[in-house]
Amino acid sequence: MSVLKITDVSKIFPNGPKAVDRFSLDVADGELVCLLGPSGSGKSTLLRMVGGFETPSSGLMTIDGEDITRLPPEKRPTGMVFQSHALWTHMNVFKNLAFGLKLRKVPAAEIKRRVEGVLDLVGLGGYGLRSVTQLSGGQQQRVALARSLVLEPKILLLDEPFASLDQHLRERLREEVRDIQQRLKITTLFVTHGQDEALSMADRIVVMRDGRTEQIDRPDIVYREPRTPFVAGFIGSMNSLDGTVTKGIFTAANFTVGLPVSDGPATLCVRPEALDLKVVADGPHGNVHRVTDYGTHGLVDLALPDGTRIKAMVAHPDLFQVGQGVRMTPQAMAAYRDGMLIHRTAIDASLSRPPERIDA
Ligand code: ADP
Repeated sequence: MSVLKITDVSKIFPNGPKAVDRFSLDVADGELVCLLGPSGSGKSTLLRMVGGFETPSSGLMTIDGEDITRLPPEKRPTGMVFQSHALWTHMNVFKNLAFGLKLRKVPAAEIKRRVEGVLDLVGLGGYGLRSVTQLSGGQQQRVALARSLVLEPKILLLDEPFASLDQHLRERLREEVRDIQQRLKITTLFVTHGQDEALSMADRIVVMRDGRTEQIDRPDIVYREPRTPFVAGFIGSMNSLDGTVTKGIFTAANFTVGLPVSDGPATLCVRPEALDLKVVADGPHGNVHRVTDYGTHGLVDLALPDGTRIKAMVAHPDLFQVGQGVRMTPQAMAAYRDGMLIHRTAIDASLSRPPERIDA
C-alpha cells in the first residue's frame, strides 16, 4: 500500500513568487493524479518537493504515514521521471537501469532479473546491450521510466515526460504508461499542461492556478462541472458570453436565454457540443464565419454582432455556409458570477462528452 499525503505545503522562493500556496492533496493507493495548469502555476515545484529536489517553506508530506518532508531524494521511496530524461549516454541500457540497484548493493543475479523484467514491461525486452544514444526519443523515455520503476518506488513522479515527443508518439506512450501504471497499481503523481493528457490518463485531476488548487475531481466531472470560470476555460473548448441577468433572463448582445438566478452580471459558458444551431432568415444571433469539417464532426465558427466568437459542434457541417444567419440554443450550460458557479443545467451526459478533438 502506498498513500501520499500533502498537507498545507507552501513554497516561497527567495525574492520570488509564492510558487505553491498552502496546497493539500491525498493520493490514494494505486491512484494516478494529474497536476494540470498553465505554465507557472506551481506544478513542477510541487512535484519536485515530493521528490525531494526542493524543500517546502512550510507544510507536511507523508508516504504511508512516514514524514518525508525533509528527507533527501535518495532516502525517499519515490521515483521521478523528468521531461529531459538525462540518461547516462556512456552506459548501455542495462547499465543505466542497473546503476541504482548496484548503489543499493542488490546482488548481481537479482539486478539482472529485475532489469530484464522491467525492460519487458516497457516494451524494450532485448535492448539491454544497446547504447542509449542509438535509441529513438520515445525509446529513451521508456528507458527513463524503466530506470525509475526498477527501483520499485512506492510513488512514481512524472514531470511532463512526453513534452519533447511528437503528437503520435505522445499519445501512444501515454496509453502505455497508463497500462503499466495500472498493471503495477503504482501510486502516481503526473505533471502536465496538456489537458488531453490529463483527461485521458488521470483517475483525478488537480487543476492548479497560482500555486493553489482550483478544482480536484475525476476528469469527467472537471470537464462537465467546472467549478470556476478558470477551469471552464482551461479544460476543453468552451464558449463564454459576458452578459446581464434581469428577471431570470440572461442577455448578451442580442442573445437571450432563461437563467434562474438573481439580477446582475453573469458569464454564461456553453460547450461547443452542447450548442444547437439553426439557420434562420430573420433574427439571427450571429453569422457563420467559418465551417470546418473534421470528418467525425464539424465545427461552425460564429461571429456575434459585438465581435464575440462562438464555436458549435455539428454533425453535418455541409448544412452551414459562411455568412448565413443562425440562432443558438444551449442544451447544457453553466453560469458564473464573481468567479463562482451560480447555476448549472442538469446535463445529459450524451450531450457533454468530450469531442474527438477541437482546436481551440
Ligand atoms: P509550472 O510547473 O506550473 O510551470 P513552476 O513550479 O515551474 O510552475 O513555477 C511556479 C512559479 O515559481 C513560477 O512563477 C516560477 O517562475 C517560480 N519558480 C520556479 N522555480 C524557481 C526557482 N528555482 N527560483 C525562483 N522562482 C522559481
